Amino acid sequence: MAQTKRKPREAAERDGRPAAIVTNGLSKRYGSRPAVDALSIEVPTGVVAGFIGPNGAGKTTTMAMLLGLVRPTAGTATVLGSSIEAPASYLHRVGALIEAPSFWPGLTGVQNLQALAVLGGHDQSQILDVLALVGLDARGSDRFGDYSFGMKQRLGIAAALLGDPALLVLDEPTNGLDPAGINEMRDFIRSVGDGRRTVLVSSHILSELEQVCDWLIVIDQGSLVYQGPTQGFLGRAGTVVALAPEHLHDLNRLAELARADGHDPHPEGNELIVPVGEDDPRGVALALNKAAIEQDIVLAELHVRRPSLESNYLAAVEERAR
Ligand code: ATP
Repeated sequence: MAQTKRKPREAAERDGRPAAIVTNGLSKRYGSRPAVDALSIEVPTGVVAGFIGPNGAGKTTTMAMLLGLVRPTAGTATVLGSSIEAPASYLHRVGALIEAPSFWPGLTGVQNLQALAVLGGHDQSQILDVLALVGLDARGSDRFGDYSFGMKQRLGIAAALLGDPALLVLDEPTNGLDPAGINEMRDFIRSVGDGRRTVLVSSHILSELEQVCDWLIVIDQGSLVYQGPTQGFLGRAGTVVALAPEHLHDLNRLAELARADGHDPHPEGNELIVPVGEDDPRGVALALNKAAIEQDIVLAELHVRRPSLESNYLAAVEERAR
């Protein structure tokens, strides 16, 4: 899949506002191995941008360079209009959660935030507001050491919100959360990214970001695969036929049938996903259903639908590898 080509002016400005993040050929090598490879991205101001890619794709390294924590080997970048060579000029306007948050376990949530507000020179009066924003207002007087994993994550985000930052950088904030915690985090990201501030949030679980991000940056092995509106990414792979056999062990046989019919299927959970391309989706569904019946494979479900972010991502990475 080709990278989206946008005119520099369009890309750098959205609604007349300069981009929150711009990188040009940003690279980081560890020894001979590139962790981030000539990455050129732009994150428009006010979007919730999902930064997605598999483990080891270079998301954390990129974020660390944007936060002045890691020095690039090559390339340049600006954050909120300032060069990353001078992080002190913009970091007071950036909130970040990178790696697991660390706090004083014996202090309460409120006391931890008070201490951080003093250290960061932030207004103390907003502490209860940020606690409410992350849903911890009822637990602010409990010791941090007694918090659950999800509550610790949320306090980390509350700390990142001190000072009402214009840019929020969250590295895998859903890591280690249970499904309920992931849902809460999603709602939270949606509510903090209200168009007023820019959010850059990474995840290796693509479906987690599909619903909350209006902008996507997809990377693989340190290189850009896609950047642009989420809808643009979702629309790229066209329609798919999804088949769920009654018995999971029939997935491979179904895949063989689909290949014999000239398709390039892949499994996703308990389904076989068949990208349809230029074909008639209902015709493909009908043909595959007939072929399955002839082989005594019972289908529990058969759908024609838009592909998930996961399918698009796999298709994009495969296309790039070709
Ligand atoms: P994950 O989703 O697993 O956090 P990621 O997309 O954030 O992955 P990075 O952590 O940025 O990826 O790592 C990118 C590559 O750089 C990996 O191959 C990693 O092993 C390597 N890397 C990262 N930090 C270092 C380091 N300090 N020294 C050597 N190699 C490193």
